Amino acid sequence: METLLDLNISQLRELLKKGEISSVELTRFYLDRIKRYDNELGSYINITEDIAMDMAKRADARIAKGEEGRLLGVPLGIKDNFCAKEIETTCASQILRGFIPLYDATIIKRLKDEGFVHLGRLNMDEFAMGSSTENSSFQITKNPWNTEYIPGGSSGGSAAATASGLCVASLGTDTGGSIRQPASLCGAVGMKPTYGRVSRYGVIALASSLDQIGPITRNVSDCATLMGIISGYDSMDSTSFNHNVPDYSAYLGRDIKGVRIGIPKEYNIEGIEPDVKKTVDNAISFYEKNGASIVEVSLPHTEYAVAVFYVICTAEASSNLARFDGVKYGLRINGKDIIDMYKKTRRKGFGKEVKRRIILGTYVLSSGYYDAYYRKASQVRTLIRRDFEEAFKRCDIIMTPVSPTTAFKVGEKMKDPLAMYLSDIFTIPVNLAGLPGMSLPCGFNGAGLPIGLQIIGQPLDEARMLQIAYAFETQNNVKKIPDKYRNKD
Ligand code: GLN
Repeated sequence: METLLDLNISQLRELLKKGEISSVELTRFYLDRIKRYDNELGSYINITEDIAMDMAKRADARIAKGEEGRLLGVPLGIKDNFCAKEIETTCASQILRGFIPLYDATIIKRLKDEGFVHLGRLNMDEFAMGSSTENSSFQITKNPWNTEYIPGGSSGGSAAATASGLCVASLGTDTGGSIRQPASLCGAVGMKPTYGRVSRYGVIALASSLDQIGPITRNVSDCATLMGIISGYDSMDSTSFNHNVPDYSAYLGRDIKGVRIGIPKEYNIEGIEPDVKKTVDNAISFYEKNGASIVEVSLPHTEYAVAVFYVICTAEASSNLARFDGVKYGLRINGKDIIDMYKKTRRKGFGKEVKRRIILGTYVLSSGYYDAYYRKASQVRTLIRRDFEEAFKRCDIIMTPVSPTTAFKVGEKMKDPLAMYLSDIFTIPVNLAGLPGMSLPCGFNGAGLPIGLQIIGQPLDEARMLQIAYAFETQNNVKKIPDKYRNKD
């Protein structure tokens, strides 16, 4: 059974189709693994076992009738900020305890149309604010490669569960790195698509001008499969593109000769760990040896990216989170009047980091400060986007590390939010520019913690990024799934 972990979605679909395994068996296999290993990992905050078994039975019935579906019978884990009908959706916040959406997010609907099995809800930083998943109000998730370390965030549950084989693959969201950074720190493949490529309808917003949804998987092929399903126009999300969706999987295996890889000179920052630098440089040399050309590019406004992000992100978050006031969703603490009820509910319901950001965001939007902070940040954001436009005149894609460091220890950065914010230096500019970015496992540091290569593409160039990632993956056997989570059955 353990070899099931090494099969990609199309291979699993073949087995399911031929009847060599049923969806019920496959789902049971994953549920048993969750029961066995998730006590120590803490990646799931809600295992939707009954729903999963029910979906698996229905998938088997459809398979028996000869029906098709790109995910028919395949069990996935979902970050807890995707609204799903009849399933508590909390964003790992106390304020949404008991909130059961009346509708499915567009992406959940698409997964259902393809026949997926909903294994459960994955832990995250509260409202996706954080880089370690320690801001979850429910539990801490551990890094599968060493449980003294954090899995990254905010999609830490998605990355830990995928990397340890507690789901076939998962979905996450990325506002400033929340798919790529945890994927990198856990040794998984993660893609943040171009802003507008994927509908966000029904996904609880953090910062609406930055948020994107994307897959976290154990291999590039599954990333391509999921991208093909989730991409495309949705009339319910006015920011989604009406642009045709390529057959991403068809690009895998195509030659990468002649591709021009841009390396930003500003990204050789001081805080970058030597093992990270060495491993990422080795990956870049692999491409060079295989016919790519390397060009130095410049992204001079990168140094402002983290500051700009924390103005824009907090401003938009303060506005998006205003709706959680005890009236319509989840928690309500009664007070002497309605204002008192709002105050009590929000005081009790939101965690420390969420409050910090609401306060900061309200401040940068307040009259008298708007021009100095929010408008200024938006202007610098344009400069950051233009840096990329200039760079892409000389190269096809850009490569950087995903994170300057490997995973850090649980608790290490909790007292220093600024240090935590700075760890997103390589991922944040990509969101500010609306570009697609990907994390590809490219090796480990001396202590056995994973390192990710970031591949940044031009708008809507995800197919080429997958093609490039696949070339590395197939020729370098970067280990997936720690031994501890294998061969015990
Ligand atoms: N780590 C960043 C933050 O704390 C990004 C989070 C995200 O992408 N959701 O905001």
